[in-house]
Amino acid sequence: MRTSSFFLLFLVFSFAVFSQNNILIKNVNVWDGTSDRLNNNVSVLIEGNLIKMVSKNISEPDGATILDGKGRTLIPGLSDAHVHLSATMSDRETRNEAHWMYTSIRTAKAAENFLMLGFTTVRDLGGPVFGIKRAVDEGLIVGPRIYPSGAYISQTSGHGDFRSANEPSVQLSGGQLHPADLLGWSYVVDGVPEVLKASRENLRKGATQLKVMAGGGIASDFDPIHSVQFTIEELQAAVQAAADWDTYVAVHIYESKGAIRALNAGVKCLDHGHLLNEETIKLIKEKDAWLVPQAFWTDTPASFWVPGSNVIPEALNKKIKPVLEGTDTVFKLAKKYDINVGFGSDAYGDLGYESYALTEFTSRAKWYTPIEILKQATSENARLLSLSGKINPYTKGKLGVIEKGAYADLLIYDGNPLENIAVVANPQQYLKLIMKDGKVYKNDL
Ligand SMILES: [Zn+2]
Repeated sequence: MRTSSFFLLFLVFSFAVFSQNNILIKNVNVWDGTSDRLNNNVSVLIEGNLIKMVSKNISEPDGATILDGKGRTLIPGLSDAHVHLSATMSDRETRNEAHWMYTSIRTAKAAENFLMLGFTTVRDLGGPVFGIKRAVDEGLIVGPRIYPSGAYISQTSGHGDFRSANEPSVQLSGGQLHPADLLGWSYVVDGVPEVLKASRENLRKGATQLKVMAGGGIASDFDPIHSVQFTIEELQAAVQAAADWDTYVAVHIYESKGAIRALNAGVKCLDHGHLLNEETIKLIKEKDAWLVPQAFWTDTPASFWVPGSNVIPEALNKKIKPVLEGTDTVFKLAKKYDINVGFGSDAYGDLGYESYALTEFTSRAKWYTPIEILKQATSENARLLSLSGKINPYTKGKLGVIEKGAYADLLIYDGNPLENIAVVANPQQYLKLIMKDGKVYKNDL
């Protein structure tokens, strides 16, 4: 009698714990996303889309799929906090030549490419991706978790004003929005009411944060890098609209003047920031804001900037050169003041360019240790993403860590990226398993 009730209890217990599609990964060295060392020779039990247990002693549950890690290294899925999944063609092609449906298919392909490099989560900082995010979440297509921003919010003449020289201003001409902009590429707006409307339009469509252009950019023709974009009242309007949805604003900015204005308006994340001075870095620290700079640009060939060419035209180089020259200073300052640094590549362009996002790992090694870089691309980015507050779409488990209750987003490498960051940058050679949301997308174990 005692034996049978114990057996019954065991059955009930095992059904409750192991009834779903369980996967037991045995014999792996685990890096949990936050600590400074590996937890050697452990097993990880996955139940549904969450991690159920990480332990040295997990008995093989009935019916579970068993994967033998063979002593390899298991880490949390990577995240990239600055991507543009929909920007796989030039602005001209996207706006004037390609059918939106073709652009969407390319966007889906870019999403798949990011996942297959090991990025299980991305923050999309501008462009139409709401439909792609939905399709990924529903399992219709393959891709990472997506935190979308929707359309760039730009002032007239700002970094998101993609008009050609002959296209009239919508406001001045009383004309209509460009069809591409209607699809959600960019809202060109001026004044507080228009900024509020654009912000709320993005939030209505499902933006998890807002992307505002606060200063000059490289890829736009009419705004010098030093230009400061949007008044403090306009920036405050976007921050207010975001805060009312319990989320935040990220801005595109290189120079200190625009960055200081944005921080004082309540902006929480500065993207790029390659020309920031010490005073601005201190202000980021004081405000507990974030910086997402790009290191890999200094290590890319000219063909990254001008597809099909090995020469950068003088006008473009005039914008790129100072930005690249500022990179070393800003990374040193970021490290000196120990500010919040996210991992974001801004690696966009033709399909296949996604792999430049992996160059960001090796390029950051000039300033950071492999563990510091890996933290930025996992648990630190997860802290940044959590600023989306009550509209964060992924709150059932934690992101960017390997622990009980976290999302089952994980990678297994044949090599130790904590010692050699190049392991992460060469997925064809080293990446043996990709799991996102408890589902296996690559298995070469
Ligand atoms: Zn960008």
